[in-house]
Amino acid sequence: MEKIILQLPLILLALHIQSGAFSDSPVLEIIEAPKPEVVEFNNTIYGTCEVTPVTNLPPSQPEIVGQVLFKQIFPNGTLEVKINLRGLPADDQQARAIHIHQYGDLSQGCVTAGAHYNPQAVDHPGHPGDLGNFVSEQGVIRKFMRLPEAKLFGGHSVLGRAVVVYEKEDDLGMGSDEESKLSGNTGERIACCVIGITSPRLWQETEPFPGEEVEEGNE
Ligand SMILES: [Zn+2]
Repeated sequence: MEKIILQLPLILLALHIQSGAFSDSPVLEIIEAPKPEVVEFNNTIYGTCEVTPVTNLPPSQPEIVGQVLFKQIFPNGTLEVKINLRGLPADDQQARAIHIHQYGDLSQGCVTAGAHYNPQAVDHPGHPGDLGNFVSEQGVIRKFMRLPEAKLFGGHSVLGRAVVVYEKEDDLGMGSDEESKLSGNTGERIACCVIGITSPRLWQETEPFPGEEVEEGNE
């Protein structure tokens, strides 16, 4: 009897291994390059998202349009983002949150885009597509930024997912309610789009943004 009791933890351990309980140890992820873009566009993947307002937009909210552009060098580049939105009032003081959401489903407007894209099951604002808050100047939101946790390829790619622009400011998880750690209490979704793969054209056509490193040309 004593022998069986001693062996029990070992038996349980063996069952554990067989059932795959230890399979979440780091697994080497081999990411295949998106083709043909990696060859055609100098090892770089580009994405675009054509922002449009929701159809049932409340009259108090601005009709925001424009693009959110993405660029990432395969396989080790940091994702770069250009936000270029217009349609806001010239004197607008409202900070508005922008986030990447899980689904590219806009069949019922921005609401069907699901929750914030959250592949690691962490609290907001730790999601890879939590872009933060933006205030317009002269009716325009124009920003260049880097998103180190988000990708345009591999298992955590944001391609095919949605960008959502919100009515209100993101509390960045500092609110006292549960919603703060899920979404940042940002109010209604007022504009959105689906991220799709594209050529370098839109990125290259956009004037260099403040903070953007301009590549040296061979003149
Ligand atoms: Zn979030």
